[in-house]
Amino acid sequence: MDFAFTPEEEAFREEVAAFLEKEAPKEYREKRVTFFDMSGQPDWIAVHRGMAEKLGARGWLSIHWPGEYGGQDASPFYRLILREELTRYHCPGYDSIGAGIVAPAILLKGSEEQKKKHLPGIASGKVMWCETLSEPGHGSDLAALEVFAREEDDSFVVNGQKIWTTNGHFADWNALIVRTDRAAKPNYRGITFFLLDMKTPGITVNPIVNMAGHHDFNEVFFDDVRIPRENIVGGLNRGFYVVMSLLDYERTTDTVYAFADTYLRDLEGYARENDRLTPVSRNRLAELTAECEVARLLHYRVAWMQGRGEVPNYESAMSKMYSFELLQRVAEFGMELAGPYGQLAEGSERAPWNGRIPSCYLRSFGHSLEQGTSEIDRDVIAQRGMGLPRLR
Ligand SMILES: Cc1cc2nc3c(=O)[nH]c(=O)nc-3n(C[C@H](O)[C@H](O)[C@H](O)COP(=O)(O)OP(=O)(O)OC[C@H]3O[C@@H](n4cnc5c(N)ncnc54)[C@H](O)[C@@H]3O)c2cc1C
Repeated sequence: MDFAFTPEEEAFREEVAAFLEKEAPKEYREKRVTFFDMSGQPDWIAVHRGMAEKLGARGWLSIHWPGEYGGQDASPFYRLILREELTRYHCPGYDSIGAGIVAPAILLKGSEEQKKKHLPGIASGKVMWCETLSEPGHGSDLAALEVFAREEDDSFVVNGQKIWTTNGHFADWNALIVRTDRAAKPNYRGITFFLLDMKTPGITVNPIVNMAGHHDFNEVFFDDVRIPRENIVGGLNRGFYVVMSLLDYERTTDTVYAFADTYLRDLEGYARENDRLTPVSRNRLAELTAECEVARLLHYRVAWMQGRGEVPNYESAMSKMYSFELLQRVAEFGMELAGPYGQLAEGSERAPWNGRIPSCYLRSFGHSLEQGTSEIDRDVIAQRGMGLPRLR
């Protein structure tokens, strides 16, 4: 077992840090903006897109892809190093959905044409993605989803509603799953995975504002939206298998241990500067620091497996559940540490970091739901990791 990064990986980290020292938006650093809180910043979409293109131009968004598809055959640790540094610099620009989830799904299950058509846009940072899996009645139980696409000539015509679509209001493309066979038994054998241009006529995107007051996700309506057959990934009625492999990536696309650790270090700095270190807060800081280390190692294990060509499964669920719940605990600690100041929102003169503390806290409630709920993660760990019997 080797806990050290290679000299090449360390050199990459230094290169990224030097770049971000110059290019990361200064106001994001000053306000200690965290990844899940970025959408609250003015002009964030333009800033995010601008940074994505700069990262893409350096080849960093695709550094760990195979050379034949525009990558540099680097290990998955290069992606982690990039995201750790972006986090440390409070910098946007990484499209978790496009680069983090859709690209691996296309690399794994897409046709040669799909790889050639879609991977360069993701690698360049110019094309951003959303994913429409969840429906108002079906989130955890995706196999029962109802939005339907009827076959017509060489296309499929979609009608229905999806919900909680992160970044749907500015994404260029969408990874969509819909029912294409209502009679299929079991029901998951009637689902197809499509790539959909968000400019296609018939798509309506309505905002949903989250508890923190920010616009991250949306509801999306499809009225006779026509998708060419060639946009199917993984075969007709075989979309559920694509989703299952995609979820294994989704659970670890975001380096949540790094978000938690960076936020905790910022809170530590705040406590030191503002004389808020008590014996109790000092102990809590120490406990949470140890938990960040556990989360980091759980995530590194997943990256290590991916680098060996293995497909992590319960290991991803373990990492996702632990790190997202840790981020909730760190956000709660922020509220405790700041005391009454922690309740001051954006715009208040005395609010630390212009209201980031209550904003991160309110946003943190979604962490045990998004990318699959913690209960489903526990189920995956119990069944596939521990071999315990199914509950249902
Ligand atoms: C911030 C955020 C961003 C999101 N972004 C996206 C996105 O971009 N695209 C997208 O498609 N979706 C997105 N989602 C939706 C997310 O994937 C779903 O919320 C999640 O899968 C849960 O589905 P649900 O909300 O329908 O809850 P349900 O599935 O109805 O679950 C309700 C409760 O019951 C529990 N439960 C359900 N089934 C079981 C079971 N078998 N065993 C034990 N407990 C169970 C759940 O854990 C949960 O606590 C996002 C959600 C959030 C909060």
